[in-house]
Amino acid sequence: MSVSLEEAKSRIALVPRQNLGFFPTPLHRIDRISDELGVSIYLKRDDFTGKNLFGGNKTRKLEFLIGKAKNDGCDYVFTYGATQSNHAMQTAWAAASNGLKAVLYLIAVVEPDENDIKANLLLDKVLGAEVHVISLNEGETFEEADYRAYAAGREHIARLEAEGHKCIDIPIGAADTFGTCGYINGVVELEEQAKNMNISFDYLYHASGSGGTMAGLVAGNKLIGAGMEVHSITAMNPGEDYVAHAVELSNSALEYLGFSERVAPSDYIVDSSFIGPGYECPSDAATEAIKMLAREEGVLLDPVYSGKAFSGMIADIRNGKIPAGSNVCFVHTGGATALFAEKQILGDILS
Ligand SMILES: *Cc1c(COP(=O)(O)O)cnc(C)c1O
Repeated sequence: MSVSLEEAKSRIALVPRQNLGFFPTPLHRIDRISDELGVSIYLKRDDFTGKNLFGGNKTRKLEFLIGKAKNDGCDYVFTYGATQSNHAMQTAWAAASNGLKAVLYLIAVVEPDENDIKANLLLDKVLGAEVHVISLNEGETFEEADYRAYAAGREHIARLEAEGHKCIDIPIGAADTFGTCGYINGVVELEEQAKNMNISFDYLYHASGSGGTMAGLVAGNKLIGAGMEVHSITAMNPGEDYVAHAVELSNSALEYLGFSERVAPSDYIVDSSFIGPGYECPSDAATEAIKMLAREEGVLLDPVYSGKAFSGMIADIRNGKIPAGSNVCFVHTGGATALFAEKQILGDILS
């Protein structure tokens, strides 16, 4: 069973939420690449979610988290990520524009140059966030450093709360019950737009990291019976419990919003074959995809997430996994600030 768009919208409207941008984001066909490949590709421009030039998918999630923070009387917002995290940067402006103080604990996957701060880390500081950089110790993995970052964050929160402040602690990627509502709502928005444009999407492709966007998209797709095959292209090694964790997120968000629909592991299609050498390491296919979209359509992708996902979608079209004539939606999750980040992240994009 699924629910109508109207019912979905009216229920979602009942939980705390702070408007953070300009919605609906545009949905448009990319004619040149579509005609070349024999399919119809539409971009859902969630790189345009923000209050400034640099939006992205975390903004949809943060609407529900900032809404909750304000509802709960918080004055501080804590979150985590890599030093070039899009999520941390979007949290910084979401907090600033709501009179909240952002505190970021960021892991240096690529060590920033103190004298030449770039891209998202620079924006975090311009936006007035308090930034703590956690350098990787010799032989330490990202997950281990992440654990240290969370521990430091929790200690900091305890200190502030002892002084009478109230803090919301947002996990990496805003991948929790509240954040997941962002893409349940995003699918409702997309479906309404598609209906008005007389399109029915067969496939939806997007970049996946923490899994919160995927959890919302899969839950929303099932909730309203949109009937899209949702393909999640991972930008990092997904780990064994990736889908199990996403199922929990989807179902807890559906429950929080008051829906009885639930998802199962079989609703997810996760493809990890486009990561390349690793997280924040450029892949040749993503570099090609970025150049293709930039030079044929004038749209900018990023090397860490959306470029890799776009390269996965193009490969699936070329190898026939997506049949000719299909309608495909690519959710542009943002991230183009990485084009101004450290060279190790950007890769060989200039040739
Ligand atoms: C965070 C991010 C993603 C992945 O979203 P998750 O919800 O963490 O899976 C994809 N693209 C961009 C540009 C991102 O910043």
